[in-house]
Amino acid sequence: MTTSVVIVGGGIAAAAAAFELTTSHRDDLRIDVITGPSLGGALQSTSVDDRHFDLGADGFLAKRPEARDFICDLGLGNELVDIAASGAWIYLDGQLNAIPTGMVLGVPTSLAQLRAVPALSRAAMREAWRDRFLPRRLSLPDGDVAIGQILRHKFGDHLTHELIEPMLGGIHAGRVDELSAATVFPQLLTAARAGGSLMAAIAPPATPASPGPAFQTLRGTMGSLAPRAFEILEGRGVSVRRGVIATKVRRTTAATRPFEVDTEETATPADAVVVALGPRPLGQVAGHLHPHVARLADTPSASVAMVTFIVPAADVNLPESGTGVLIPLLTPHRESRDSFISTAVTFLDRKWPHVARPHSLLVRVHCGRIDDSRIAGLSDDELTRRVESEMAQLFGAWPRGSAVTVQRWTDALPQYRVGHGDLVAAARAAVQPEGIFLAGMLYDGVGIPASIGSGRRAARELLARLPQ
Ligand SMILES: Cc1cc2nc3c(=O)[nH]c(=O)nc-3n(C[C@H](O)[C@H](O)[C@H](O)COP(=O)(O)OP(=O)(O)OC[C@H]3O[C@@H](n4cnc5c(N)ncnc54)[C@H](O)[C@@H]3O)c2cc1C
Repeated sequence: MTTSVVIVGGGIAAAAAAFELTTSHRDDLRIDVITGPSLGGALQSTSVDDRHFDLGADGFLAKRPEARDFICDLGLGNELVDIAASGAWIYLDGQLNAIPTGMVLGVPTSLAQLRAVPALSRAAMREAWRDRFLPRRLSLPDGDVAIGQILRHKFGDHLTHELIEPMLGGIHAGRVDELSAATVFPQLLTAARAGGSLMAAIAPPATPASPGPAFQTLRGTMGSLAPRAFEILEGRGVSVRRGVIATKVRRTTAATRPFEVDTEETATPADAVVVALGPRPLGQVAGHLHPHVARLADTPSASVAMVTFIVPAADVNLPESGTGVLIPLLTPHRESRDSFISTAVTFLDRKWPHVARPHSLLVRVHCGRIDDSRIAGLSDDELTRRVESEMAQLFGAWPRGSAVTVQRWTDALPQYRVGHGDLVAAARAAVQPEGIFLAGMLYDGVGIPASIGSGRRAARELLARLPQ
């Protein structure tokens, strides 16, 4: 008898899980993928004139192996492109400051780094100096704490706000006061537990820089990855139901297989199910299976927007180098007398030279955070005008009418709150023994490598449970 596995989700975690299952070369395995409303999930791209560019994730950390290995396993390794620029800027006190190298996710590891940031406040410098020479004691409970609890105690509010929150909070569109140290930044938790200066404890051991690029992308955009992966999977006999929405994963005692996965029109019997969904659909599709899964489905998610511009190179005065700019929370916006909605700017064509053109620049502006819902109240035109005005403040001038896309990402970035790791472990322990496997960015961390790794691991664990 065949073994039926249904994978719910059409993001890169689902594709990776399906791919890993096919590597078992088991003839008795039938694999169905129900991709849902958005093939590729957070990986989407578009084209304007002859430029193909990403609307969501635009590249991945190449120091982690999972994404590169997956792309090579798919046979797409010759399409990998290395990042072509390094360094970035931070907008502090009305000026752009080069972000020093050698920090760990925004956390400084030496006073010299901070001396190189002219606009850093004296209060932030004092906090760093105190941590270096008169470090505060911090007794931490066992288990998880908020990143902000560590940073504010060991440094103080100024350094946290000016330098660390823009970087760490920016990656997750979250707040350091709410994000879990154990899940998001375990290295910080270890350094805090070591005692003494946090800056000294977090400094990585002096080792020669590892060869190879820090980030990579795909020549055809990251948005092309999932569609191509699913085509390759179909070639390996996987059934891919595009645009079909799963409504429920149900236990069943009436049939020969323990589960059925419902859509509007079908009920697919399954021996095992991989659920690779974000919190809200997880709740709808699988929340009833166990209270721990339902609790995980309550994880809040941040909505963000990306406004992409193609601007004539002669009309803007970007800093001469670097991949982009970070904008701290509550940065005053002069025109509105409010704070910036933009949180970061990416110089896409500096990162990825295959999208560079001689006379125009491809610039993407990231907006919104978990506790800043202003973007939801603005139309695309209003948001664009607002971002144009913020960019004019940042760079001195910004041409009107140069926006080419506004991409909204609703409930797209799960917030790993304190205790998230325990929640994930409890949910997995509750449903995995019966054959439900949880994969994707809700479980094992944000980022393309983490999501691919999560999908492949879920599939390996599933295979290990099948009778030989
Ligand atoms: C705006 C943004 C920018 C990012 N930038 C980067 C970056 O530069 N680098 C990086 O490494 N990472 C980045 N990330 C993170 C990275 O993109 C994610 O970690 C990864 O793509 C998540 O993949 P996933 O498969 O876990 O989930 P998702 O991509 O969220 O996929 C979820 C899938 O669930 C499907 N679905 C939903 N409901 C149903 C249903 N009822 N039935 C069936 N299917 C359903 C959807 O169709 C979708 O395919 C970014 C994320 C976002 C949102």
